[in-house]
Amino acid sequence: METSQPVAERPRRPEWMKVRAPSQNGHYYDVKKLIHGAQLNTICEEARCPNIAECWGRGTATFQILGDTCTRACRYCYVHSGKPSEPVDPLEPLRLAETARRMGLKHVVVTSVDRDDVPDKGAGHYAATIRALKAKLPAATVEVLTPDFLGVEEEALQTVLGARPEVFNHNIETVRRLHRRMRGARASYEGALELLRRAKEIADYPVLTKSGIIVGLGESNDEVLDTMRDLRANGVDVVTIGQYLQPSSKHATIDRWVHPDEFRWLREQGEALGFGSVFSGPLVRSSYRADEQRHAAATGRGAVAY
Ligand code: SF4
Repeated sequence: METSQPVAERPRRPEWMKVRAPSQNGHYYDVKKLIHGAQLNTICEEARCPNIAECWGRGTATFQILGDTCTRACRYCYVHSGKPSEPVDPLEPLRLAETARRMGLKHVVVTSVDRDDVPDKGAGHYAATIRALKAKLPAATVEVLTPDFLGVEEEALQTVLGARPEVFNHNIETVRRLHRRMRGARASYEGALELLRRAKEIADYPVLTKSGIIVGLGESNDEVLDTMRDLRANGVDVVTIGQYLQPSSKHATIDRWVHPDEFRWLREQGEALGFGSVFSGPLVRSSYRADEQRHAAATGRGAVAY
């Protein structure tokens, strides 16, 4: 159940949610310089991801294409929402591919804001980005975490999958009961499942499909399990489950801190349901150690907990 608790009175962040600060060791500042120098956006910064010190320190990041303004306003998301002021930048795919090459990425994760203002909802830009990456980094694998392409789903899937990303990810985000409340009237739980199912059907190569669930929004663990069952019933190979963090007082309040033992239980349930990979843990995000998630699913290594 969602509460009306003010931010100041929220329960303190438990020990297991503590994250480390950026350090001079590792690649954090090199990654920052490269990304900012190329005028690229990342979901790591735009969503204030708690793992940024770790991921950038490892030399990885998740690119956010199609600008910095999202045409939706999900209640859990920190990404700026509104009417985009800039057209889609046709040179962004090239800058992104060159930056990924300079970072030496072996697995490149690309996501975006929603662009309901663009006729193809950004599908063509995704395909251009995947193609640029494959031209520049032929040995790398590419993962896309896409919006729902509302109204042009079939054409968009044909376009994106025509560029052959190795992983197609679309986050269901929350359980059926909370979906509309958290994501707004335009998003649909059934629509998300359908997109994932059709991605697998449309691809003429063995694409891995993937989805993510945020917990702590007011759902029960049994509802999370139901959502995992729905994902498996629609052929999803990889699932991620992580704790919601309220980005500001205007966003949905945290309902509960999910204990690491509960994450472990969810991982075991996911394993029993037959996912190729289950990443379940307090700080797990859709793109967290995405290279390992893909590898675990592709090699049948199975569930991983953090
Ligand atoms: S978990 Fe994903 S969004 Fe967060 S810092 Fe790592 S790569 Fe970026």
